[in-house]
Amino acid sequence: MALVATTYEIKVLDLMDVDVQRAFLVLARQLGTVVRAKTWSYLILGGEDPILVDTGASDPEIMARLGMTGHVEEWQGLDAQLALHGLVRDDVRWIMHTHHHIDHAGQDDRFPKATVITNRRELEFSASGIMGAQYPPEYVKHHIDRLHTPGELRLLDLELSGPDEVLPGIVCESAGAHTEGSMNILVPTAEGVACLCGDIVYDLQNAVIDPYHVGLDREPQTTGNHGMRKREEKAAIKKALASCTFFLTGHDYPARIEHGRVVARLVKGGVPGPEVPVEHRLTSETHQPGHGEHEWQPPSAANEMVAVPGATGRVP
Ligand SMILES: [Zn+2]
Repeated sequence: MALVATTYEIKVLDLMDVDVQRAFLVLARQLGTVVRAKTWSYLILGGEDPILVDTGASDPEIMARLGMTGHVEEWQGLDAQLALHGLVRDDVRWIMHTHHHIDHAGQDDRFPKATVITNRRELEFSASGIMGAQYPPEYVKHHIDRLHTPGELRLLDLELSGPDEVLPGIVCESAGAHTEGSMNILVPTAEGVACLCGDIVYDLQNAVIDPYHVGLDREPQTTGNHGMRKREEKAAIKKALASCTFFLTGHDYPARIEHGRVVARLVKGGVPGPEVPVEHRLTSETHQPGHGEHEWQPPSAANEMVAVPGATGRVP
């Protein structure tokens, strides 16, 4: 019997919009101005059971603890977004976490049938107090409960083990940035490997494609919310970009990468899926620093799929 490699499809789940300082998303960019950012989870289909990557915030109001404003329309949120794929919460067998921040690990308690897979360092880091209210005590306590309930939690030791294949073909590795325990999740698709890298980048346009106030060639700009040293934050972005064909962050539209360069954004909620070409500025070609002048937005037709599910009731 020939072995057939498993490939997966990844669906973007649109959970919440958040009003946030631009300088939080990209370091020191347009200080004092606010932008509305997406908050995604990702659903991985094609294996034996559905896999959910991150569970979003517990509720939009909790974002006020960080001075942010969360918005959830009726078509957003986990239940509505899972329903677009014919799923309910109990269908989700595995939850994986890029990290445990307030907008990523808030609904694990609503999935009692799922096993949570995460990095042990992230659990420790979440209880350390170093990033304050970004790790709500409710979330941390729930994870401690899972720690003492057989089968509810699987902890990885990625800093020591190196890359770990946790489910067929799906490999986790230490992200090396944003938080001490953040992990990248590498997922094989029919068109190449997707890297789900959490929040090592928030705003791809102004951190990577046209990095704000950076003159060095192929040098990313960091976020304004990082827990590691500058060199580690930058190296983590380079490492993730080098590891994949599709680059998927927690708050921005996915991107296709070719030879370390962003060549397109994916705009229809699926990876692989329809793409819009983009121009990745390289300062070795332009001899100008990054401008950081605008937000990248998908074409309006793409917005419709997020706002109004198609007649089939499924995200295209
Ligand atoms: Zn986040």
